[in-house]
Amino acid sequence: MNISTPIETTRVEASGLSNRQIDQRREAATPRGVGIGFQIYAERALNAELWDVEGRRYIDFAAGIAVLNTGHRHPRVIQAVQQQLERFTHTAYQVVPYESSVALAERLNHLAPGAHAKKTAFFTTGAEAVENAIKIARAFTRRPGVIALSGGFHGRTFMGLALTGKVAPYKIGFGPFPGDIFHVPAPVALHGVSVDDSIRALQQLFKSDIEPERVAAMILEPVQGEGGFYVMPPEFMRAVRETCDKHGIVMIADEIQTGFARTGRLFAMQHYDVLPDLMTIAKSLAGGLPLSGVIGRADIMDAPAPGGLGGTYAGNPLAIAAAHAVLDVIEQEQLAARAALLGRRVLECLNDLRSVVPQICDVRGLGAMVAVEFAKADGTPDPDFTKRVQTRARDAGLLLLTCGVHANVVRFLFPLTIEDAVLDEGLSILTNAMKA
Ligand code: PMP
Repeated sequence: MNISTPIETTRVEASGLSNRQIDQRREAATPRGVGIGFQIYAERALNAELWDVEGRRYIDFAAGIAVLNTGHRHPRVIQAVQQQLERFTHTAYQVVPYESSVALAERLNHLAPGAHAKKTAFFTTGAEAVENAIKIARAFTRRPGVIALSGGFHGRTFMGLALTGKVAPYKIGFGPFPGDIFHVPAPVALHGVSVDDSIRALQQLFKSDIEPERVAAMILEPVQGEGGFYVMPPEFMRAVRETCDKHGIVMIADEIQTGFARTGRLFAMQHYDVLPDLMTIAKSLAGGLPLSGVIGRADIMDAPAPGGLGGTYAGNPLAIAAAHAVLDVIEQEQLAARAALLGRRVLECLNDLRSVVPQICDVRGLGAMVAVEFAKADGTPDPDFTKRVQTRARDAGLLLLTCGVHANVVRFLFPLTIEDAVLDEGLSILTNAMKA
């Protein structure tokens, strides 16, 4: 594609395919376990808009599940990938490495919070980053145990699932999972769990299940993603850091969903006054190309022996090229500041709706990582209303994602590059979908 070609933003020619027909073929050809959010099939997309095979336009507030902070097909990302396509697409970094990967590690080491010496290893998916963070922590501490939070999400591989604190639909039928994994309730005041409750549960865990000297790592998302967009309170993050320091436990911040300007800072951990030892990154790192990584303290990152880390596609050169462009765009377009601004606008819109939509029980967010939670009149979660809002929005041309242990939260993940007019249009569809 020539990036200087003007792109038709309002409508695309229908492809001649029908959503219904492809969906029938999907049902016959692919297993139901790979669930889909919407029975519409993508034809093309640009920034915060997507067109299906029938030529229908949607405003995309899902952004490939938090992958497109820089939007669909940002011209700089496309250009960087095109240039890399002309050079080489794969050598296997572990066989013949390339400078672009080293340079990206240098950039991320510099950008990640903390002035200490850091190193970065690249992988392909978020789950793989999580797996490797645990491997690194175990190699460093020579201990087995890992503690995660209820409601946390860390991927669909076996360790990722073991760490994930939400059974349905992720874990059903797939056990047994790796041992020595424990969960502590996440501090979510809205659901009656205070910071003190969580800390007490952690202390209790050390009495009832595993001694802290056998714990390698504690992993948590600064803002729970799939679990419901709950922002971890600063005093909890501090308590986790203190516990990890006291017992020689590696603290891992899973920034896979929170990273790359979504929360108003490049990384969500920059909102806190403590530093993690390791951070997992993926999703918006490479603007739609598969790339993940672990950034961490150099001494911890060097614990695994040569050959202990890697993967055939780990740090694919096309994805590395895209990631450099993503970091350039975040910086040049000041997307962290824009996230804070967009977040405020969405919060304002949602707060205005509280008086007319009684189902709204909470509106929250950090930067543009904003969510609205729905409850019935008796205060219990309202997943049915949540689903209705999502369906009505889709029918009116807006793609929304839900989340939460009770599936009663709508989360907002629009590109941070979204045009003001498109955001306003999306919010007006959302407003109607909630009021209807
Ligand atoms: N950790 C977090 C916090 C995530 O949000 C996700 C994906 N939703 C993952 C890990 C897993 O990433 P992937 O789907 O790329 O394996």
